[in-house]
Amino acid sequence: MNLRLETDAIQAAVAGIRFRTLAFIDGAFVEAQSAKTFTTENPATGKPLAQIAECDVPDVDRAVQAARKAFESGVWSRQTPADRKRVLLKFADLLEANLGELALLDTLEAGKPIGDCATMDLPDTIHCIRWHAEAIDKLYHHVSPTGPENLGLILREPVGVVGCVVPWNFPAQMAAWKIGPALATGNSIVLKPAELTSLSAIRMAELAAEAGLPAGVFNVVPGFGETAGQAIGRHPDVDLVAFTGSTEVGRYFLKYSAESNLKRILLECGGKSPQVVFADAPDLDAVAGHAVSAAFWNMGENCSCGSRLIVHKSVKDELVAKVAAVAKTWKTGDPLDPGNRLGAMIEKPHLEKVLAYIDAGRAEGARLVLGGNRILEETGGYFVEPTIFDDVSNRMKIAREEIFGPVLSVIPFSTEDEAVALANDTNYGLAASLYTRDLGTAHRVARAIRAGTVSVNCFSEGDITTPFGGFKESGFGGRDKSIWAHEQYTELKTIWMQLS
Ligand code: NAD
Repeated sequence: MNLRLETDAIQAAVAGIRFRTLAFIDGAFVEAQSAKTFTTENPATGKPLAQIAECDVPDVDRAVQAARKAFESGVWSRQTPADRKRVLLKFADLLEANLGELALLDTLEAGKPIGDCATMDLPDTIHCIRWHAEAIDKLYHHVSPTGPENLGLILREPVGVVGCVVPWNFPAQMAAWKIGPALATGNSIVLKPAELTSLSAIRMAELAAEAGLPAGVFNVVPGFGETAGQAIGRHPDVDLVAFTGSTEVGRYFLKYSAESNLKRILLECGGKSPQVVFADAPDLDAVAGHAVSAAFWNMGENCSCGSRLIVHKSVKDELVAKVAAVAKTWKTGDPLDPGNRLGAMIEKPHLEKVLAYIDAGRAEGARLVLGGNRILEETGGYFVEPTIFDDVSNRMKIAREEIFGPVLSVIPFSTEDEAVALANDTNYGLAASLYTRDLGTAHRVARAIRAGTVSVNCFSEGDITTPFGGFKESGFGGRDKSIWAHEQYTELKTIWMQLS
């Protein structure tokens, strides 16, 4: 199903959706062994959407066994790269054929604007699978520089069974960032979606099977973090866990690994990203547009959210006025209405957390320029206005902690050194933007900021060809996207041959 982004077409498509609510293990839909389910709800209405199979330790064990059996059989792991590519390209085609449905699933469960899901998240998801599929039959192994009496082969082999534990903010896309390179390199996977957003992941597994992915290679175990997530982290037969989520939970996976089988751990975690605007920024209107996207896109529920706008004091007031003006044009409301740029916060506790940060900003003396309130309460949904605080100090709670909501803090600076120090004065290091017309400043500051991605004169995470991940407490062990993502799903093997 594809989707026309008009209200009548969207409503008709919603009415026609059939939710897949079971776990997908060894190529088949199954209930949780306990037969337990949990409720998933629509954060734009506060109403239940579906009951999802609640997987726990026995279900994870079953999925890992299926993944191991498939891996050892070689049905996928020893297929030629060209054959794996063919199946994954078919998978991408099926995702594309069902783009509208998948976009709606993410909108309904995560409260994300349908325009974003249908024109960004899902196209990027599909492109990610295709890109990794296309790459796999163009990669070569290495031969070491030996004398004629030896042959040293340096090979990359799939690690085996990969557990993927992902968040709710870009449900399909975050799953694709893991499963694209993990499957392309020949691994079998057990994916646990966030308990708030299970539906698109389950549907993706079904489509992968339809594309010809053998049973057991791609399993989905919906469930809670402390149960199903922990079971993956501690399972002795999982070789690697690729996690995206909060830094707090990321730490648990290091512990799970240390206390179990030393499985490899890749963490993509939180951020508190700076946007640094110098006095010579090329075009303040353009900067304002980027600053609003950085802060409010996906309601600020974005790991690379540019939540700290660090501005030279000579242009601060002018820029803040422009940012507020652009932010006012971003309408908040029903995520199924294609005219809205902001949808709902993911759930009530998260809404309350974001409102508590806004209260903290007020209490610590930051100056509220825009927003600051819950709105549209009558809908039953969890909506917050885009909120801007000026005169923020980098010591304030709103400048230090990841809010994961539409709250922007404006922090003034005077010198380049001060700007860099403020940008780096955080435990995080995921992303940063900077704005200047001076090439020297751009390059110097981009090098000085300790972040995995620094964008210059725009807000961007790069594209599928560039690695994405964090310095400091924003990440551990690797990078998503690009060819570097392939390496982390493989083990390096040396084969040393005596030839004479
Ligand atoms: P979260 O850490 O609460 O949950 C992430 C996943 O971990 C979920 O599947 C959850 O069920 C699971 N989990 C929770 N507790 C667990 C436990 N004790 N043991 C094992 N698994 C557990 O994160 P979230 O609220 O879903 O997502 C928001 C976070 O994700 C933010 O911090 C955001 O910055 C981060 N994020 C990072 C990136 C990136 O690429 N760096 C991308 C998107 C989101």
